[in-house]
Amino acid sequence: MKAAKAVPVLMYHHVSPKPGLVTVAPATFRAHMETLVKDGYSAVSADDFLNFLLGRNGLPPKSVLITFDDGYLDNYVHAYPVLRELGLRATIFAVTGWIGDGPARNCAGEGGEPPLCLDHRACMTAIAEGRADEIMLRWSEIEAMEASGAIEIHSHTHTHTRWDKTISDPSARRDALAGDLARSRDTLRQRLGRETRHLCWPQGYFDDDYVTVAGKLGYEALYTTLKHVNTRQTPPYDIGRIVTKDRSDNWLSRRLSIYSSPLLGRLYTAMRGEK
Ligand SMILES: [Zn+2]
Repeated sequence: MKAAKAVPVLMYHHVSPKPGLVTVAPATFRAHMETLVKDGYSAVSADDFLNFLLGRNGLPPKSVLITFDDGYLDNYVHAYPVLRELGLRATIFAVTGWIGDGPARNCAGEGGEPPLCLDHRACMTAIAEGRADEIMLRWSEIEAMEASGAIEIHSHTHTHTRWDKTISDPSARRDALAGDLARSRDTLRQRLGRETRHLCWPQGYFDDDYVTVAGKLGYEALYTTLKHVNTRQTPPYDIGRIVTKDRSDNWLSRRLSIYSSPLLGRLYTAMRGEK
């Protein structure tokens, strides 16, 4: 039986009506997801993906892992309804300290006025000014998405701090990172009643120390912003991802076929001088 040799991991941030560097428009996101279905891809769970890397299970030949970073409200408003409608699943790496409490808001296209989703810069300002709840997910929304089976939540740390930029002493930096990662893991356990093995690095930064700290805390799959192909030879602490853009479904379709092939994926990343 045919099985996956390489699994592309897509990285999204925002899905909102104000496209930009890390934002795709809702219509683009729908086109991306419809293409993925049309091309015959299976959107796999994070655990199935990790077990593939660990050699514990096979996956269908065309498999993909869809991921979102940070945990913005627009993921719930604009991406979740599309994923649910198409029977796809995705992973959101949430900054657990930025997630708030309160009733679930409206999704787009499901009756009622959906909340306004700000652009990336305005989101950063809102977080800095202590107004994260206006633009980040709430636990009620996370629970609804997880219950639907379309979305699973994993860790993007508790505070999204770049400890390498804030603490110069290596030992103090390791302690701060460990505290941040443990808090995120514990918050997810308390809120969702389960463990997570998946962690995505803020702004893609990590080093050997970081990998050791994360491993000790039970994070087995570490998601980077490196662009290499993921095969069974890829260590789970070195997962590469494809940066998505507000570009056509054909663009995505080509990227998926390149990154589903170990050979094409390696040639492509070597050609672009990327790791
Ligand atoms: Zn982030």
